Amino acid sequence: LLRVRGLKKSFGPNQVLQSIELTVGRGQVLALIGPSGSGKTTILRCLNGLELADGGTIDVAGEVSLDFGTPPTKKQLAALRDRSAMVFQHYNLFPHKTVLENVLEGPVVVQRRPKDEVTAEALALLDRVGLSSKRDSYPFELSGGQQQRVGIVRALALRPQLLLFDEPTSSLDPELVGDVLRLIKELALEGWSMVIVTHELEFAREVATEVAFVDGGRIVEHGDPKQVLRHPKEERTRQFLHRLL
Ligand code: ATP
Repeated sequence: LLRVRGLKKSFGPNQVLQSIELTVGRGQVLALIGPSGSGKTTILRCLNGLELADGGTIDVAGEVSLDFGTPPTKKQLAALRDRSAMVFQHYNLFPHKTVLENVLEGPVVVQRRPKDEVTAEALALLDRVGLSSKRDSYPFELSGGQQQRVGIVRALALRPQLLLFDEPTSSLDPELVGDVLRLIKELALEGWSMVIVTHELEFAREVATEVAFVDGGRIVEHGDPKQVLRHPKEERTRQFLHRLL
C-alpha cells in the first residue's frame, strides 16, 4: 500500500531524515519507535504532505507516486494528503468548532462530499466511540481521552487508505491511555493500515505487524515486533530499549 524510498528532509543545515525506506502492506500496522528528535514525527508529516520532503519517493497504492527530486505540484500534494489522515499528539481539534463540526470539516469542506451523507457517517462514528452525546460540545468541554477519540473519528471520516498516529496517547493522563489504545487496536483488527509513532512498547508488540527503530534520521533496524523489541540485532536499539525498561 505504501512504499517510501530514500526519503530525505532537512530543516536548514539540519538533515533530519537521511534516507528513509519503508513499506506498509494493506491491513498492516507499522510502529515507529526511537528517541526524541530522531525524526519520527517528520516521517509522518512527510507521508501526509504536511512537510515537503527534499528527496526520495512516496508511492501510495500505485495511485499516487511522488518523486521529491523535483517539487511536487499542488495537485500531486493534494492527492497525497487525501490518501492518509493524521491523528496528532495534541489532538489539534479546532477549538471554536463543536465536535461534530470538527469531524465534518475535512470531508465536507476539503473533500466536498455531501453534508447529509457525511453527517450520518460522522454520527455513527461518534456513536461507536461513545461520544454521540458530545456532538455539540466544544473541545475544551471534553477530557483528553474524549478529544483524542474525536481526533480519531475525524481521521476515519476522511476515509483514508492510511491512518497516521503521532504519539496518540502521550498527552493523556495514564488512566485515559487504555481507552484510546483499545480503540486503535480495534481499528487495526478491522484491517486499517496504519503507521503509528509510539512510546508504548507493549502496545507496539501486541498490535504492530512490524516495528522500525528510528535514530538520527535513519531506520536503524526493522522487523517482527517480538524480534526487534525482545531480541534487537543492533546495539543502538538495545541501548534505547534498555533505557525505557
Ligand atoms: P519526539 O519523539 O520528541 O516527538 P521525533 O522523533 O518525532 O521526536 P521530530 O519531531 O521528527 O522527532 O524532529 C526531528 C528533528 O527535526 C529535531 O531535531 C527537530 O528539532 C527538527 N525539526 C522538526 N520540525 C522542525 C521544523 N519545522 N523546523 C526546524 N526543525 C524542525
